[in-house]
Amino acid sequence: MLLVEDESEIADFVLLGLREEGYAAEHAADGVAGWARLAAEPWDVVLLDWWLPGLDGLTLLRRFRAANATTPVIFLTARDAVSDRVRGLDAGAQDYLCKPFAFEELMARVRSLTRRLDRPVAALSYGDVTLDYESQRATRAGKRLDLTAKEFALLALFLRHPDAALSRARIYEQVWDEEYDGLSNTLAVHVGELRRKLEAHGPRLLHTVRGVGYALRDRDA
Ligand code: CA
Repeated sequence: MLLVEDESEIADFVLLGLREEGYAAEHAADGVAGWARLAAEPWDVVLLDWWLPGLDGLTLLRRFRAANATTPVIFLTARDAVSDRVRGLDAGAQDYLCKPFAFEELMARVRSLTRRLDRPVAALSYGDVTLDYESQRATRAGKRLDLTAKEFALLALFLRHPDAALSRARIYEQVWDEEYDGLSNTLAVHVGELRRKLEAHGPRLLHTVRGVGYALRDRDA
């Protein structure tokens, strides 16, 4: 986490609190240093003061958003007018906290943003195949695939690792959560069924990789 804040009292208080909560927190004390840190390294969350010497927080945020669309930014500022909040959010901040704020409130906002990041991806796709976790639906070429729970889990695994040859043992352990004994034909049966359902709406995607296992790819290689 990066804190860009020029007021040392606030910076000390926030950094101490974050570190006590177990977050790795770094600090930049002005806008120019803040931009250098933002541009140089990936951050999970950025806490950004509005009024900063060198480069103000709003300019910094716009510049950051031009290069990075997704890292969550929380604006920390004494400004509390609605129009200022709107400007901050419009510039790409995910959240906004007015000084003085309680540390507990900052932590609640940080937790909320990092939870959103930790959420598993909602949807996966490869070529004309899509899979949606929330609705538990998979489609190919826009047609719904009628999959069993195991076939759905298998397809999700392949979609998470497109083009990769996955070993039978790895697939079995991930989808069945059991060690693969190398004898059972359960896996081959399920892959065969999934393959048949996928091929009802297009060419082969689920290829057998000799001596290894299977791969989801749009070519047979
Ligand atoms: Ca300031």
